[in-house]
Amino acid sequence: MNVLLVYAHPEPKSLNGSLKEFAVKRLEEAGHSVQVSDLYAMHWKAVLDAHDSLDRPAGERFDPSAESRRAFASGQQSSDIVLEQDKLRWADAVILQFPLWWFSLPAILKGWVERVYAYGFAYGVGEHSDAHWGDRYGEGTLAGKRAMLVVTTGGWESHYSLRGINGPMDDVLFPIQHGILYYPGFDVLPPFVIHRTDRVDDARFSTICDAFGQRLDDLWKTPPIPFRPQNAGAYIIPQLTLRPDIAPGQVGFAAHIA
Ligand code: FAD
Repeated sequence: MNVLLVYAHPEPKSLNGSLKEFAVKRLEEAGHSVQVSDLYAMHWKAVLDAHDSLDRPAGERFDPSAESRRAFASGQQSSDIVLEQDKLRWADAVILQFPLWWFSLPAILKGWVERVYAYGFAYGVGEHSDAHWGDRYGEGTLAGKRAMLVVTTGGWESHYSLRGINGPMDDVLFPIQHGILYYPGFDVLPPFVIHRTDRVDDARFSTICDAFGQRLDDLWKTPPIPFRPQNAGAYIIPQLTLRPDIAPGQVGFAAHIA
């Protein structure tokens, strides 16, 4: 199988750097092909702007979505974007690995998503009408592929528990797992989260690697998070609210998990 690891940490000798090396070795030893997009090492351009297409008419008002659509459809996207889209097409599984920074992705990784997820590639796919609001949330360009987050946090596990002060980790990661991964079609596996990173020493690192290695070995058999598909009947179209008989009384992120 082909695995793309998109990795965002500025320091190769960090905990994240060690885990990235571990993952590549483990996956290759299991016979998989691995590509790594090491965003800091690549000097990835993090900001989406008018320079992301090759032939934009000078002086025109820049409309990010319209320009993304035009450049994708006409083969005029910047080459760094095209390369990452090709890696996504190649991959059977995609791992996003990052330290949790301000409850989200490091900016360089958010910028990878913003630029690589072009209109026509990750959104604006399929019929858009009052009867069918696009191929997304369970359908789309990346359907049939698996994705998993590998996340490190300074906070303790209890801080991210159901009544923890930071909010439950499933909620913190919902915009990434549901909004960024499930939206263009990925089957999203439960995340691998390492908490309280300032307490990692050699002994704990070894325990973490055991658990992480198992998750990598199980990449093809771990059941995905059962997010509800948009176009399978659970949602009223075009309002895109859950039908009243689905998860009655339940609101918020959890209602979108079967
Ligand atoms: P490192 O700092 O590189 O390492 C952590 C520990 O692991 C160190 O003790 C190191 O010695 C040890 N280690 C590393 N490699 C090995 C190895 N090979 N063998 C044995 N031990 C090893 N945390 C939150 O919970 N929520 C937030 O919203 C949040 N926001 C942040 C925002 C910013 C801008 C920053 C800088 C930090 C934030 N943090 C937050 C904390 C952050 O998530 C952690 O600092 C990060 O996850 C630690 O990962 P690292 O790879 O940088 O670890």
